[in-house]
Amino acid sequence: MTYIHDTIVKLQHSSPAQAEFYQAVEEVLDSLTAILEHAPKYRQQAIIERMVEPERQIMFRVPWVDDNGQVQVNKGYRVEFNSALGPYKGGLRFHPSVNASIIKFLGFEQVFKNALTGLPIGGAKGGANFDPKGRSDGEIMRFCQSYINELYRHIGPTTDVPAGDIGVGAREIGYMFGQYKKLVNRFDGVFTGKSILWGGSLGRKEATGYGCVYFASYMLADRKQELAGKTCLVSGSGNVAIYTIEKLHQLGATAITCSDSAGTLYHAEGINLATLKQIKEREQGRLTSYLQHHPEAVYIPCSDYPADGHAVWRYKADLAFPCATQNELTQADAEALVANGCLAVSEGANMPSTQDAVAIFLRHGLAYGPGKAANAGGVATSQLEMAQNASMLSWSFQEVDEKLQLIMRNIYTRARDTAAEFGEPGNLVLGANIAGFRRVADAMIEQGIV
Ligand code: NDP
Repeated sequence: MTYIHDTIVKLQHSSPAQAEFYQAVEEVLDSLTAILEHAPKYRQQAIIERMVEPERQIMFRVPWVDDNGQVQVNKGYRVEFNSALGPYKGGLRFHPSVNASIIKFLGFEQVFKNALTGLPIGGAKGGANFDPKGRSDGEIMRFCQSYINELYRHIGPTTDVPAGDIGVGAREIGYMFGQYKKLVNRFDGVFTGKSILWGGSLGRKEATGYGCVYFASYMLADRKQELAGKTCLVSGSGNVAIYTIEKLHQLGATAITCSDSAGTLYHAEGINLATLKQIKEREQGRLTSYLQHHPEAVYIPCSDYPADGHAVWRYKADLAFPCATQNELTQADAEALVANGCLAVSEGANMPSTQDAVAIFLRHGLAYGPGKAANAGGVATSQLEMAQNASMLSWSFQEVDEKLQLIMRNIYTRARDTAAEFGEPGNLVLGANIAGFRRVADAMIEQGIV
């Protein structure tokens, strides 16, 4: 469709050198052809042109002093993409690879993901090109405080509510909240992913990983399959990966891999979760330490990965859960999964599969849950945290988990039924994109040209 092609070309001129952002936009727009043809109001109202331009982008200097007394400077971002459905909502990422393209791709995805949950939340994303690895607690605190010294004026419980992402967990949220409270002199529910001690929600830490597994179970159930007894490949070893593995094991499946940015771990009898949590959650260590506890496991450093992909996807398994980062599953990886009889892929990470890899999943009829649907349990539970904060109540773990399961089921059925409505049954990419788009676009039309 030339309209979509022209929109992407215009975007490349107005926002140059943002490859990840174009990739995310192209993937969404490719799915929208049918709805744009059937409902001319979206073109008449320039909805696509408005959606690809964030409502507001904030970029700022983050100066801080390291333990040697040296002044360091990083670049901070917050992209407030779309507030048609509610306050801006989306995580903060601290990683050296962060740039405007990465934050915009994440923010754009977040708009559709949040719409798909059915909850009243807009979309945003932020972060900084700061590398927390090897930094002391004091350095992390000073960095977080400096980051908030600028961001505090743009966020608030009914305007913009950030959460964690790569490199931002409960510790960083604590330091950022503390500085925010100092500056505004209010105890607001302005972050989610907070500690349970002061306003966090039970079940938020587990929500993205658990939700991703629930999503896989709903996809399998429609194919008369179940999780119990299945062998699974998981990538990553952070928050999302750990709680994906935990839920898989609870439901009778076995995760045999995990990874970090240095290599992949393969443990044929199943990843030992207690050891993994010890290394990653308490020691902030590297995966190689796992071998000291389980010498029978195998570790493959990145230097030994295949030239066209990643070691983690080359093992034989029934299911795959990419839970590390974007573009971590290539076309060759997808071909290897198919050749090894993989039935389903459920994405815990954002945009972990390249567009070529996704095409292979769809062509071979795998059950494929794109990140914006399969990992939406995290942001959905963040919204449950906001609801608890606003009502000054706290719910039990079981109550939150039951709501999470219901939300994930609704996301799945919404994506599945929308795909069928538009003539492509089973294509959850198309279903998720159209269902998310329709909700945001209709709200934008009702709110006028703003
Ligand atoms: P964490 O920081 O807790 O963990 C990230 C994991 O991915 C680590 O194992 C890390 O390894 C690995 N990783 C990061 N960058 C790379 C890279 N370039 N190459 C290989 N491995 C890498 O982050 P989360 O678990 O929170 O996030 C993981 C993914 O899930 C991200 O895509 C995030 O956007 C997405 N997501 C997270 C949500 C949440 O609630 N946390 C919600 C929805 C999506 P290492 O330790 O070596 O860096």
